[in-house]
Amino acid sequence: MSTNDTSAYNDFHLQFIAGEWQKGKDDSINTNTNPYNGDTLVEIQQATKDQLNEAYDAATQAQEAWAAQMPAERSAVLYKVVNILDQRQEEIVDWLIKESGSTRIKAMVEFGATRAITLEAATFPNRVHGEIRPSNTPGKENFIYREPIGIVAVISPWNFPLHLTQRSIAPALALGNAVVLKPASDTPVTGGLLLAKVFEEAGLPKGLLNVVVGSGSEIGDAIVEHKAPSLVSFTGSTSVGKHIGELANGGEYIKQVALELGGNSPFVVLKDADIEQAVKAAAFGKFLHQGQICIAINRVIVEDEIYDDFVERFLAHVKTLNVGDPNKPDTAVGPIINEKQLKSLKDKIDQAQEEGAKMALSGEIKGQVVPPHVFTEVTREMDLSCNEVFGPLVGIIRAKDEEDALSIANDSMYGLSSAVFTADMQKGLRFARGIRAGMTHINDISVNDESNTPFGGEKNSGIGRFNGEWVLEEFTRTHWISMQNEPRQYPF
Ligand code: NAD
Repeated sequence: MSTNDTSAYNDFHLQFIAGEWQKGKDDSINTNTNPYNGDTLVEIQQATKDQLNEAYDAATQAQEAWAAQMPAERSAVLYKVVNILDQRQEEIVDWLIKESGSTRIKAMVEFGATRAITLEAATFPNRVHGEIRPSNTPGKENFIYREPIGIVAVISPWNFPLHLTQRSIAPALALGNAVVLKPASDTPVTGGLLLAKVFEEAGLPKGLLNVVVGSGSEIGDAIVEHKAPSLVSFTGSTSVGKHIGELANGGEYIKQVALELGGNSPFVVLKDADIEQAVKAAAFGKFLHQGQICIAINRVIVEDEIYDDFVERFLAHVKTLNVGDPNKPDTAVGPIINEKQLKSLKDKIDQAQEEGAKMALSGEIKGQVVPPHVFTEVTREMDLSCNEVFGPLVGIIRAKDEEDALSIANDSMYGLSSAVFTADMQKGLRFARGIRAGMTHINDISVNDESNTPFGGEKNSGIGRFNGEWVLEEFTRTHWISMQNEPRQYPF
């Protein structure tokens, strides 16, 4: 396909293995549905373990020649990918809306982030560099080379499928690696097959990117345990991430893991904050993509003095949000991804009330659309505070003072993102540095991702960092090579 052919992509019922679009050979079928209206989008015959092995063989065969290509040649493919993304923006945004239930606003945010990381990755081939280190051995020189890691297994989630897949595969490929990708079952197109089409159109040589759509029971563990990958890049829940970590380090072959897991982001409003701005931020940072974001605001913590004022203004603002059809440009809250997640949210609503939280705002759940639910007088012990909600429900916690707010913010087994609102930047910086998390934003929401800054978490939120130099290091390996330039004197 040439870059000028912009007819819509098709064949999404097929797998992409060894550079060919082929039918899955497993008996099971993935029925891909639109979470808003239940329409069937595509039915995919799933892949078998043999097809996964075929994907790894193809990746292994293709990788060395790709790593040996000139950096400019690898960059050129990535720049072409950026061009194709631009040409096909409408088609891609449309898929994000119908497959992942993204509102149009969220789909545009996701498209922008995907484009940005691709552009960043296009610079990686020329940014890889080694080092020369002094030696304490007479006549020796120490060189540190940075090489491709080889084969990277990528497992991605359904919530930001396009971006969270691309932020692994674009750097991996740019740095001379080959990829075998398993997208989430709810988003096989935007989480994988669509990107395979884009890379194919950009001229990526066959075998370097393989997309295998399969059930967890058939290929879930096998993709991690296979001998070929040296790195498993997993983005998803903490429970599955722990399992992946065990498999990657407890089996026959030891591998590196990059784990981007769940979060429980605190959003702290101190008493001197601009309340109106904090209210708007809290609503956007909580309800974007129905709250189904790892870095979404999960706990709103407000200093006692301004608690009532904040709550009143927050409720008034949230009531104005449009809820429903994600395709309408002004919809703020669209559908939940699937029935399992919907059930977990209904349970959380019940539990919050049983635990004594006050339901200050609710609404009728229609199909998979859950309107914003706001709970007040929430305490740090309640389920809403302790666990990732992953939906449009939020609890507002009262903090006695700044010290108490920090203690509540840190009272979590997660440490992904966080935010603090204050008029005093010095206080904001002090507070931010006191939070044990990978990311903290002063006077902004916890939902931030920039392709040149480190993205990742502490504690049960994961291991490793994405973006910029951090992912460049993650997706390469170091090799110390020393050169003994004069005969060394050995003790015996
Ligand atoms: P999930 O853990 O259920 O699934 C993630 C991926 O793992 C999917 O592709 C799934 O098919 C696959 N998977 C499931 N079991 C597997 C197994 N045994 N072996 C191999 N693969 C397996 O997560 P999800 O529901 O898709 O996504 C939501 C979760 O992801 C939330 O907890 C969210 O916080 C987290 N998340 C984290 C980040 C981050 O950057 N830290 C980003 C987005 C989502």
